[in-house]
Amino acid sequence: MDEKVFYTRILGIKLPWFVKQVIMDEAKQRIDIYVDHEKGIRVRCPECGEFYIMYDHAPERVYRHLNTCQMETYIHVRPPRVNCPIHGVKQIESEVGENGSDMSHAFESMVIRVAQECSIEGTTRLCGLTWDKVWNALERAVNRGLASKEHRIPVHGLCS
Ligand SMILES: [Zn+2]
Repeated sequence: MDEKVFYTRILGIKLPWFVKQVIMDEAKQRIDIYVDHEKGIRVRCPECGEFYIMYDHAPERVYRHLNTCQMETYIHVRPPRVNCPIHGVKQIESEVGENGSDMSHAFESMVIRVAQECSIEGTTRLCGLTWDKVWNALERAVNRGLASKEHRIPVHGLCS
């Protein structure tokens, strides 16, 4: 199994997506994984849910992911954009991480778990992150919590 197949498997990447390249920098103790997709994929408009042939890519995003052993690991992905006849050019939400975050979902949830066990200062040291990055991750988690609570309000309760 080569390193591209290895990372495709452990990251759980499914076609049409695949790992195109893996670069290991032993001096920096860092691994960069480049994720790409097959040509001519269909992309869903986030507004109306209709599928269209991919229009173009948004600029590359780089997400910090869980370490590979002791090496910091980063995932590179170019989010596809759709040109919906009704809603215009829209970027789809990446499955790797949230828009507005430079952490993968898995890395971010690890940071949040660490922050629940110790102070923000302790979290910055254990995760090798700046105070701002830890704080942003916590803020996004709080916002997600608020958004899911809004969804749980029964509709008939609001109208009666
Ligand atoms: Zn649309």
